[in-house]
Formats: sequence, C-alpha cells, structure tokens
Amino acid sequence: MQQRICQPFSTAADQATFDTLSRYRERPWEYLESEEYIERYGNRLVWADYRRNHKGAIPPQKTRKTCIRGDKVSGNPCPICRDPKIQVDYRNVKLLEQFICSHSGETYHPTRTGVCRKQFKNLTKAIQDAKDHGLLRFQVPHVEVRPEDYCGTHGAVGKTPPPPQQEGPWYSWYQWQAPTEKEVARVRQMYQPFLKENVVRAPSETT
Ligand SMILES: [Zn+2]
Repeated sequence: MQQRICQPFSTAADQATFDTLSRYRERPWEYLESEEYIERYGNRLVWADYRRNHKGAIPPQKTRKTCIRGDKVSGNPCPICRDPKIQVDYRNVKLLEQFICSHSGETYHPTRTGVCRKQFKNLTKAIQDAKDHGLLRFQVPHVEVRPEDYCGTHGAVGKTPPPPQQEGPWYSWYQWQAPTEKEVARVRQMYQPFLKENVVRAPSETT
C-alpha cells in the first residue's frame, strides 16, 4: 500500500474549504447568515464567549499585538483571528455592529471584546469606511447656527469691489485695525505675569 506523507492540496475536502474561504473573502456577510455560523455562535456575539489568558488577577490594559505571525498562530487567538471565515470588511455591517455600543455608538475597547490590536485597527478602519459609505448609523453633533453666519450684507459675500486706486488693501478689513482700550486691557491682564518679568513696551511708548 502506498503511503503518502504529504497530502496534496487538491483533495475534494480541501478544495471545498478553500472555495468557501475565498467566497467569504469576497462576500463576507454571507458567513454571518450561513448555517455554520448559526451553529457555532447562535444569537451570541462573536466575542461573547471569548476569554483572554493572562497572568495574575488583573488583565493587561493592552491586548496582544497580533495573533498570527507568518504561519504561527498564538495559543488563544482573538475572536476574529480564531475564525478565518470572519472577514473584517466595511460591507460586513452585521459583524461591525457587534463591536459597537448600541447606546453610545462607540467602538468597544479591545480589552472588552478581546480582539488583538491588529484586528482592532482593521475594525476601526472598517467602521469608519462603513460610516463613510452610509452603511452604519452615527450621530452628528448638534451645532447651533448663528443667524449672522448667514448674513448677506458683509462685503466678503457680495460682488468683488474694483481694485483700489491708491496703495492699500483690496478689502477694508485687511487694514490694520487698532484694538479697543478694553481689548488691550484684557490681553494685558492675561499676560500680566509674563509682562512683569519682561518689560515689554508698546511701540508708541519706546519713542
Ligand atoms: Zn487577533
């Protein structure tokens, strides 16, 4: 009987895994709807049953830098690295949502989810890309608009005036404008300790 030490890659089973992997790489969201996924995770989050290994009672404040170096996989790979079928992609919205807090909209800290720093970087980028593509909801901070921001009377929003006849700035507000007494006093107050140490005189006082 012929014994083979090395199995060729082209066995049917290997080919099938390779096919599914490449399929999920192109369409990563299909894995989260597959029977395989439901059997493995059910309704739970991908990272829900993951436990970090660490010395002592207090877990380190940083997760592992990466789980896969070359072809070496660490002993307890993070929730994303342990399942090669999970692809971090901006179109994989259901996966990204598992790493976002539904109340604050913030990405969970890696110490909570246990993902390594490399995957966390990928996640942050994918989440940002998904927001840019309009796939993820996010709150835009409310900005109070002042009515003067919409004024149409300022010279800057009107027609461009003709060039100045004499030497001078094109627009009047480019000209040096002397600050009011009050403003000078306020700034002096602010820099009082500095002015005490270094005697600074106003240009008019020096002459
Ligand atoms: Zn990892």
